[in-house]
Amino acid sequence: MRREDCPLCASRTIAPFRTITRWQTPFTVERCADCGFIFMNPRFSDETIKSFYSRAYFEGNAEYAYHDERKKERFALHVWEARLKVIRRYIRAGNVLDVGCAFGGFLIAASRYFEPAGIEFSEHAGKYAQKKLGPRIHIGTLHDHFFPHDNFLVITMIEVLEHLADPAFAVKECHRLLQKGGLLVVQTANMDGLQAKILGDDYAYYMPGHLSYFPKRTLLRLLKNAGFSRIKVFHPVEFGLLPKLQKSRGDFHSIVEYRKWLRIAGYHYLSKLHFGNFCATSSMVVYAFK
Ligand SMILES: [Zn+2]
Repeated sequence: MRREDCPLCASRTIAPFRTITRWQTPFTVERCADCGFIFMNPRFSDETIKSFYSRAYFEGNAEYAYHDERKKERFALHVWEARLKVIRRYIRAGNVLDVGCAFGGFLIAASRYFEPAGIEFSEHAGKYAQKKLGPRIHIGTLHDHFFPHDNFLVITMIEVLEHLADPAFAVKECHRLLQKGGLLVVQTANMDGLQAKILGDDYAYYMPGHLSYFPKRTLLRLLKNAGFSRIKVFHPVEFGLLPKLQKSRGDFHSIVEYRKWLRIAGYHYLSKLHFGNFCATSSMVVYAFK
């Protein structure tokens, strides 16, 4: 499907930006000259997009795949715990909704402090999460869930927004779902990052399942337009280096791989280099309060 206007601001001043040919399914992304939003255009059919979230995707066997967190849960737990610690500086307890909860790992960690609920598009992953967490896991999307509005104190959308064709609706719906004073946590790549600019078409974030790409200011404007009043941006993430190093061990198969810690640490500290719209890397996490 080809769009003639920007899905965020409806501007008709959109122009080809990148052509990504390294996948079996090549695609192009376009950029809106008015709001800076970058999006896949034309977009794959809904059928094709659905096929991306097959069992093979979640088990890490497809060409375009998610790494199956279940195999490395005890390593990922370091990052989940670190994130919960920061969230709890603002919201001590209450109910949490994880949008794109996959197998529910984060929610299981969160359930020590919060009443967990989740939304998961993939039936394969969602059914597993339901087994662990019960009926408050909705298999579907933000368009067809059963949760009441003005309800949650925390909503997390970690590396989800880039997968959505209509991120403006998603952010507005999260705002409606939150109670007053509630917190939305969003993690997605910052396309203003020097990393994205230097790598151009080769930037690894251009993937067939990524439909929406945000420069930081575009994401902040989207959140403000949805009604979020107080917004805080963290570079690269809201916690320190240690949990990342601990998580990375889940991917290591031999002692030599620990040299990767140098690269991870270098990246982490390079990410601290930012001012105004300039950011050295593309990592960011945004906390937005209703
Ligand atoms: Zn626009």
